[in-house]
Amino acid sequence: MTISAASSGRVYGDAGHEVSLPASRMLIGGAWTEAQNGAFIDVEDPASGAIFAQVPAGTAADVDRAVASARAAFESRSWASMRPLDRAKIIEAIARKIEDHAHELALLESYDNGKTVHHALAVDVPAAADIFRYMAGWSSKIGGQVNPISGDGRQYHSYSVREPIGVVGQIVPWNYPLAMAAWKIAPALAAGCTIVLKPSEVTPLTALRLAELALEAGLPEGVLNVVTGYGHEAGQALVEHPGIDKIAFTGSTRVGKQIVQTAAKDLKRVTLELGGKSPSLIFADADLDKASIGAALAIFFNSGQVCLAASRLYVERSVFDRVVEGVAEAARSFKLGNGRNPDTMLGPLVSRAQQQRVLDYIDQGKASGAELVAGGNSGPGDGYFVEPTIFANPSADASIVREEIFGPVLVATPFDDVDEVVRAANDTRYGLAANIWTRDLSRAHLTARRLQAGVVWINTHGMNDPSAPFGGMKESGWGREVGEEGVLHYTETKTITALLD
Ligand code: NAP
Ligand code: MG
Repeated sequence: MTISAASSGRVYGDAGHEVSLPASRMLIGGAWTEAQNGAFIDVEDPASGAIFAQVPAGTAADVDRAVASARAAFESRSWASMRPLDRAKIIEAIARKIEDHAHELALLESYDNGKTVHHALAVDVPAAADIFRYMAGWSSKIGGQVNPISGDGRQYHSYSVREPIGVVGQIVPWNYPLAMAAWKIAPALAAGCTIVLKPSEVTPLTALRLAELALEAGLPEGVLNVVTGYGHEAGQALVEHPGIDKIAFTGSTRVGKQIVQTAAKDLKRVTLELGGKSPSLIFADADLDKASIGAALAIFFNSGQVCLAASRLYVERSVFDRVVEGVAEAARSFKLGNGRNPDTMLGPLVSRAQQQRVLDYIDQGKASGAELVAGGNSGPGDGYFVEPTIFANPSADASIVREEIFGPVLVATPFDDVDEVVRAANDTRYGLAANIWTRDLSRAHLTARRLQAGVVWINTHGMNDPSAPFGGMKESGWGREVGEEGVLHYTETKTITALLD
């Protein structure tokens, strides 16, 4: 039986940019279903504020059903014990489904999140397809090891295997809804786990469509369940659920800490991808034009709603004014607008609440005495726009320097030597990412080693790849996503030892 979530029969969008909408259902055990209490959440288009869809407001009762379905799928071993190469085929087929529906997914993401269609087509959709393609290969490559034990001198055969961790609960945010869901789902599938995924209440649509495409690609029913709902209801219920073996969370450091506390009750495994306040370091010998554009994109890309956004800029004093002016020029040149307009470079922020939060920080920045170099206002029209904003010479303890804003706001500070800039760059509770601009290779690599960040880019920023472990130090998280490390986080090691004589 073909079950379709796209059966709402409704389309949404401007002429030429219509997209068909998923029905107001979530996926539990292969069936598209409403919340048990019949409640819904409105889904909003941030370019206009229009409510254009609804999803079920799932609660603990729905999470319970979804966990039961994921547990049954796990226990049946239909997925974990499938021939690894057959599992790989299905995961690869999901990648192709995503590619076949690239434009539709990009449009849906644009209407749901606000980002431009061309951004979604260039970044979000390929990132989602790539991670499934990469992880497909791991299905047949998660092996183990033989342990050369000394023991008591008798003969033993000892080996360790990696087993799927079981039923995983995955919670993702709204800034890259499709790509973040894919980064969660693909490695869990490769490891043989079954899943209950909760997308953000603000951007639930592409995760639902992705789940539908996964079913079409041949994923057995019950292996992937998607429960829509509020974080404090469905999300919290997932973290509390005793039937969940591991929580993989991407979101704020505040909620990440709550999750750790809740998961401590039954020592669920937890991996966390949290917030950041990442630095850009520009040395005077860098290609300053490239560095200025690079630093601008590192913060303003996706309107600053990026966990790895480089929101603190440190520039060697001799070139400080020139670089800050270069970044400001780039900032002023970004055209704000509707994400479906091909000329638009930056879409609105995801919600009115997020816009207001960012504007509050901008007000705090103005009040702190920092010099406003660019932006500083909301943007055009009814959408939730904020101008790309730059403050220079803020005091090191200002909130705009210390706190993650998750919007298009940059603070720029001069430095005089390497030790000083390393100290300043590391003077944060976060440790997600950093970038360094210099032509001096030794300095680049030596500085990279001194930065407390899970990811450091040299003369570039934001180059993520399925093969490269991603994640944060300090309060930016626990564990790494993607790459070999990412898939192994969905496994437990079991050591088996036999006495041979
Ligand atoms: P958030 O409030 O922490 O929400 C993230 C997810 O957690 C959403 O699905 C949310 O659901 C859910 N949630 C909220 N409260 C919960 C609770 N008590 N228990 C369980 N789940 C709960 O973060 P956000 O504001 O959506 O996203 C922005 C944050 O994510 C930023 O701090 C950013 O740095 C971080 N982020 C990190 C990465 C990374 O890879 N390190 C990537 C992207 C974003 P609702 O939305 O339905 O409330
Ligand atoms: Mg939305």
